[in-house]
Amino acid sequence: MLRWVIALTFAAALAGACLVLYARDLLAAEAAAAAALGGALAGALFAAAGRRGQGGAVSGAAPTPAPGVARRAAVGDASPVVTGEVPVGTLLEATMQSMREGVVVVDSGMRVVASNNAARDLFADGSWGTAAPRRLAEVTRNPAIHAAFAAALERGERAEAKVEMRGGGERRSFDLHVEPLRQRAGPPRVREVRGAVGVFFDITPLERLERVRQEFLSNVSHELRTPLTAILTFVETLEEGAIDDPADNRRFLSVIRRNAERMHTLINDILELSAIEAGNVAVEPGPVRLAALVGECFTALGSHAAERGVELRSEVSDDVLVYADARRLEQMLTNLVDNAIKFNAEGGRVLISHARSEGRDRVSVTDTGEGIAPEHLPRIFERFYRVDRARSRALGGTGLGLAIVKHLALAHGGEANVRSAPGHGSTFTVALPAPPEG
Ligand code: ADP
Repeated sequence: MLRWVIALTFAAALAGACLVLYARDLLAAEAAAAAALGGALAGALFAAAGRRGQGGAVSGAAPTPAPGVARRAAVGDASPVVTGEVPVGTLLEATMQSMREGVVVVDSGMRVVASNNAARDLFADGSWGTAAPRRLAEVTRNPAIHAAFAAALERGERAEAKVEMRGGGERRSFDLHVEPLRQRAGPPRVREVRGAVGVFFDITPLERLERVRQEFLSNVSHELRTPLTAILTFVETLEEGAIDDPADNRRFLSVIRRNAERMHTLINDILELSAIEAGNVAVEPGPVRLAALVGECFTALGSHAAERGVELRSEVSDDVLVYADARRLEQMLTNLVDNAIKFNAEGGRVLISHARSEGRDRVSVTDTGEGIAPEHLPRIFERFYRVDRARSRALGGTGLGLAIVKHLALAHGGEANVRSAPGHGSTFTVALPAPPEG
């Protein structure tokens, strides 16, 4: 009986929790508040379950509502939640099973009396479905989980813990909030703790984002610091007298200018990438004559190629139309051709070609350069990833060109990829959805 009462209590607690959780985007502090509200609602149902002397884990039947009645149980109000003709048990069952958060309810003996699908996935334990309640220790041996439930039961206070678990070879992190469940009668301090409800919030994606953000910040700071240090050093040298030295003053000024330009390019690339990633760059695809666009790109980069003795060649026939945002496609090709020139050998060649297959227009930039070793290929489109950082810097690179290409391709509904082998050059391909039929 006690078990069922706790289970029904849990169901009510969930109803309260869900109301708040889904309304407020699952932030941890709010989750705690939700659990508290849930606990209060639980009290409201405790009495009802006791009167009826029956109930089920999440299918405890509610007193039949008057036709058309739709109201919400207030905290401290003994009336159950009813919405129109939907029985409260059905509503709670659906709510609990649709939650992304794992929910586990234990009784005062640490036996699991209720759980939802998300919790069962979490512990990946096929024996959850057995009728007899199992001890929490049989379900998981994680010490942090035990400590949190034990604390809530023993102290009658909310307990929180950060929990790490491995599932499918992946490490996942959870914020666990455990709320004690008390019997309803009596003043709050003396009401007996009958069980506890624990809610597991998956914070793995949040942690991943935080890591990416930190890496990005540290990369940006590092990239900006190098040219800034050079600028400050040369300004100091000029101030200390070199400004009057006709042999060096202009040279120093040009070093300052080069480094300032580098910072400018870097900041532009960062802003550009952020805007694309945030979806703030409008990609407006339309028919684009590829050969003409390639021609413009070659004109822009012609002198750069000539300086390095690299030949630019196009195999795109005049009648090829691709469906893209012309300015953004030009930006992608410019980044790829610029790299193909930079990382090419003296007297090398850059070739642009086009093929249509599997509903995609594939525009490829092939070079006769040094190629890329296989271990670098999976990360080559990541921002700031470079095979040789010093060399990239010396060539005026920011390490963001390929990341911009990738995100622009994605914004078109396409993708960017690479094939390369050391000593055999590289082929970077942008695949775009082919134009709609007709
Ligand atoms: P950047 O060129 O500014 O360094 P990118 O994001 O454009 O940054 O490229 C990242 C890295 O990928 C380069 O530093 C280089 O190591 C490698 N890479 C890009 N294109 C080529 C290429 N065509 N041949 C060889 N390596 C390349």
